[in-house]
Amino acid sequence: MDNVYGINLIPDNDAERVAALERYQIFNSHREKAFDSICELACELFSCPISHISFLNSDTEFIKAEVGLNGIQYVSRNEGFCAVAILQPDLLLVEDTHQHELFVNHPYVVDKLRIRFYAGAPIITPDGFIIGTLCLIDMEPRSLTEKERKLLKKLADVAMEQTQLRSENLALLQQRDEFIAVASHEMRTPVTALKAAVQILHTHQDEGAVALQKAMIEQANRSVNKLAFLVNDLFDASRLAARKYSLNKTYFDLGKLINHCCDLLKVSGKHELDIEGDLSVRVVADEERVEQVLVNLIENAMKYAPDSRIILIRISRLSDHVRIEVSDKGPGIDPDQLPHIFKRYFRSENGAPQAGLGLGLYISSEIVKQHGGEIGVESEQGRGSTFWFTLPV
Ligand code: ADP
Repeated sequence: MDNVYGINLIPDNDAERVAALERYQIFNSHREKAFDSICELACELFSCPISHISFLNSDTEFIKAEVGLNGIQYVSRNEGFCAVAILQPDLLLVEDTHQHELFVNHPYVVDKLRIRFYAGAPIITPDGFIIGTLCLIDMEPRSLTEKERKLLKKLADVAMEQTQLRSENLALLQQRDEFIAVASHEMRTPVTALKAAVQILHTHQDEGAVALQKAMIEQANRSVNKLAFLVNDLFDASRLAARKYSLNKTYFDLGKLINHCCDLLKVSGKHELDIEGDLSVRVVADEERVEQVLVNLIENAMKYAPDSRIILIRISRLSDHVRIEVSDKGPGIDPDQLPHIFKRYFRSENGAPQAGLGLGLYISSEIVKQHGGEIGVESEQGRGSTFWFTLPV
């Protein structure tokens, strides 16, 4: 897109300006309520049909929030009005585009939107870089009083404060994730060694060992297994979140893997694991990771549906994928909680006593998605849940 203004739109400090914008990690981000609310407030206060908040990098205007622009997200910097607004730190006020030499022949004035009024207040970082704008647009010419101009600039300052808070929040979350990654990584080695030592003690228990020793070893074995499980979940989840994960794909027999998982898990006794469907399916996938997903779904059914005697595992072969379902007849899941169930750290309040860190389903969903599959759940309170996932074939 050619520059429609015929003036230079790139200030001398543009590279530093774009670097300042990048610090806030807001360009290309999702829509967020706080920014939409500022635009809604602006429309309301100024009785204006259109308001938007934009951030401008070297060539594109990214519309972070808007009212009245039908969800539009990007405009070329050579075309948008905001590229002119960010050239100076004051409010750019165009009371009537038809009377303004820069805008009178602009495509948004002549045909596209037929804009008559534009006011753009710059969004300025604390160190003085103009990274974006808060704008008002109307299809009628109008003016702003001194008080209204001040108000609009103040709202742009609020948008800047929100941008800053948001980036501080992001930095804290990154710090948290890095800490979890380092902590779980450091804990894995000693926990694995401890687990092996306790296991040896457990299998080589002296027949003559006193009852107390036996009980302690049993207890240590259970605790270390639980600890190893928690540390592994933390470690896996932080690697998945940081996308430091690669799949080791092979061609294997899915039915065999399901049988193997059921044999592993049946040991605990209380539940009956039934398998149904096409057990001959073979897939190309990371066998260990698929096992992790299956074990997690079956263990969850055992944990969270303790009174469901039968847990049903069903495989069905569809045109271009296989679908694996794990169904229980347990308490089911509250419909309010369903949309959150695959999110990191989500646990329902009425969780089982042996509940984990709320990472199991998050890990499973990331593994399935990385394989190009889908994961979901159907559940009715009091009737049970069916967790399912698909793998491409
Ligand atoms: P965790 O790793 O802590 O077990 P998950 O991510 O596996 O957490 O599960 C998240 C939440 O989903 C659990 O706290 C539980 O409330 C709910 N949930 C998972 N599976 C079932 C199920 N089969 N029936 C009822 N609730 C379930």
